[in-house]
This record gives sequence, structure tokens and C-alpha cells, in this order.
Amino acid sequence: MSPDSPSKKELIAVKGTHDILPGEVEIWQKVEAEVKRLVEAYGYRELRAPIIEPTELFEKGTGETTDIVTKEMYTFIDKSGRSITLRPEYTPSVARAIVEHRLDLLGTPMRYYTIGPMFRYDKPQKGRYRQFHQVDIEVFAEKDPAIDAEIVEMADSLLRSLGVTETETRVNSVGCKACRPDFSRALRERAEAVRDKLCEDCRRKIETNPLRIFDCKVAGCREQARAFPKITGYLCGECRDHFAAFRRFLDLSGVGYKVDENLVRGLDYYTKTTFEVINLSGGQQNAVLGGGRYDDMMKDFGGPDICGIGFAMGMERLMAMITLKPEPRRFLYVVHAGEAAKAKAVELARFFRRGGVETLIEFGGRSFKNQFGRANKLGSSWVLIVGEDEAAKGIYQLKDMAAGTQTGGTPDELLRRILRPSCESAGD
Ligand code: AMP
Repeated sequence: MSPDSPSKKELIAVKGTHDILPGEVEIWQKVEAEVKRLVEAYGYRELRAPIIEPTELFEKGTGETTDIVTKEMYTFIDKSGRSITLRPEYTPSVARAIVEHRLDLLGTPMRYYTIGPMFRYDKPQKGRYRQFHQVDIEVFAEKDPAIDAEIVEMADSLLRSLGVTETETRVNSVGCKACRPDFSRALRERAEAVRDKLCEDCRRKIETNPLRIFDCKVAGCREQARAFPKITGYLCGECRDHFAAFRRFLDLSGVGYKVDENLVRGLDYYTKTTFEVINLSGGQQNAVLGGGRYDDMMKDFGGPDICGIGFAMGMERLMAMITLKPEPRRFLYVVHAGEAAKAKAVELARFFRRGGVETLIEFGGRSFKNQFGRANKLGSSWVLIVGEDEAAKGIYQLKDMAAGTQTGGTPDELLRRILRPSCESAGD
């Protein structure tokens, strides 16, 4: 190792990030395909926003008093002096994209989804990463509580379709700009009375945003928060009606749920409905997905007055609950010996790949026997034998590894045999 080369210790992944390796990646792809299939069946369309955004977007959107903005953002100054942040969540980016491209004027349903990485500088532990992945779902311009229920029902269907059943759905209402000030006042009074039992951070929150005390992870603060006033006692008429109608629609959809009056969620922009799905056998980091309504966010951005609702599901936490196995791959392994045969083998590999067959050819200069050993070890379905003789005649041997049978033929015939084995044996 030269004096300038990095030490071995520096060559590991950044703390709180992880690789998704072959073997695992196939399961991610399967889950992502199922997410796409299901949410598109509900009318959602993919919207891919950049991973970096102006820092101000999250300060305004996520909220300046949230843990995400005050403690967890990956923020840096770029070469031209702009403050840039790696997105810690997706909703502000969608709101920005809508305003920037005036998607609200297109007349198409404003239902968007994305799957991608998010970044939060939090203490890494099981189920909590610094780079993690979310499925994010957003609906805009739908005020009706029926959509709140539809979204929760869609989240539930998604989990069921992936075989996840050990979950609990929790719902609440966090009120709106009209009713939250009264609640915040009551909360502030109550928190003030137990100030010395709260952590330093929560003492600060008494002044800035007492609702955020519910997000605190310190056990003593959680204990105190359990006895705090509940928002449900402070809802205005409109929020009460919305919450009741939401639950009525949810009852009709057949999704089981619990009302959890402490569920305020860690973001400032929520209004009315909030919900979470919990992994019942998960440890501390047991929320698989969470979301809610944000009727004022767009307007607060200086955009049009369009309401929104959505949820984000953590892929890592979802994957931990999934028992899917990767499908065994079916592929052809081309063995070859000699220079003339090698050139022919390369050409044949191209031919079979173009024909739609996954084909592997390796160039280690191994003997026929060793290449057969490799093909066997890698679990290939077929082996194509390309020697000097075969290359000269244009007739090759194909071995079916499971059946142990070997047949000869032209590349066209062998391709047909691989693609349509039953027709071939029936003399097609
Ligand atoms: P939030 O955006 O905080 O509402 O989180 C939505 C979902 O994203 C959670 O329910 C988790 O499944 C997932 N999530 C949030 N933060 C993390 C993290 N640091 N590591 C892994 N998953 C996370």
C-alpha cells in the first residue's frame, strides 16, 4: 500500500449506509415492481425529483422546529455558495415540482409516487439508517375524507399483497390552523408544569413548538407526554367531522385500525388526518409507514392553495418483514476451448442473448472440465459446448443440466429448444 492510499478502515461504507447486494437486490426489485403495480392500479404516476434540493425547501416545508430540520439534515454549501440539502423526505420536493411546473393546471389527477433514497443524520441502529429508502405516495387537490381512507386502505393492501400481516394501523387527527393554537396553549401550560422532568431539547420545544415534545425519544419525556392533553379534545367542528367521516370510510373498507391520540408524527405540516402502520414484532424502530394530510403546505410555500395527503413507507423496515425468496435464475453457460472456438463462442453468446436467453461466458482460459465445473457450481440451466470441431461444423452440443441430457443442433435449433422445450420434444 503506498503512503497516499487510504487505509483499509476508510474503505468501508459511510456509517449508517448499507449496500444492497446481488441476491438481496432481486427481492427489492420484486417489491418495487409490486409497489408500482399496486399504486398505479390506484391511479398514481411516478414523479422523480432530484436527490438534492435547496435547503430552504425543507426549512419551509418540513418545518424549522422539527427534529429533521434542526438535527438531521445533510446540508452543505456547494461550489457556488448555495446551501444544498440531501432530501430527508420527499413531500416538499413534490410540492416544489407541482409549483415549478404548474402540474395543477394540467387537469390530470394529482397522484404521484416515487421510490428512492432519503438521508437523515440520526443515530444509526437496527431499522434506522442515515441513507434509507422510501416509497412515497402523494395526492393533491382532494379534500374529501374518503381519500384519506382510500390511502390507508391502499397502504394496507400493499402490505397484504407483499405477505405482511403482523401490523397495526393507528390513526389520529392533529387538527388545523384554527384549532391547534388552543391545543398548543394547553400543551404548553402542561409541559411548563413538568419542565424539570423534560430533557433540554423538550424544554426548548415548550416555547418553539410544544407538539414536537411527542416526537422525543427520551423515555422520561415519553412518560410525561402520555399524560399531556389530547388533541382530540380540541378539534374544531370541521376537523371533528373530517375525522369522523375518515373513520367511517375506513370502517367500510374493512381495514382494522386503532385511534392513537398521541400520534402527532414528526413533521410540522400535518393537518387533520395522521396515520402510521406499526410492525407488531418490530423493536424500537417499528413504524413501517406513516403519513397524513397537509392542507396548508402548498399555500405556505407561496404556491396555489391546494391540499395534499400522503405517506412514506420505509423500504428497509418493510424488507425486514418480507419472506420472499429470489426466483432461481435460468441461464446458459457457454464453454469454449481454443482461439477459433473462443471467437465463435463470443458470437454465439451474443446470438442467445439477443434471443432472450441470459447467457454467461467467461474468459479465464480454463479447461473444458473446469468450465463445466464452474457451470455446475453457478447453477446454470444449460451448457453450450463450443470446441474447434463444433465451430468448424456449425453444429453445437447443448446440455440440459437438470435432465442430464445432451443434444446437438444449429444455434437456431438450440435456441428453440431452450425457449420452447415442450414443443421441441413433441417434434415441433
Ligand atoms: P417519516 O418520513 O419520518 O414519516 O418516516 C416514514 C417511514 O420511513 C417510517 O415509517 C420508516 O419506515 C421510514 N424511516 C424513517 N426514517 C428512517 C431511517 N432513519 N431509517 C430507516 N427508515 C426510516
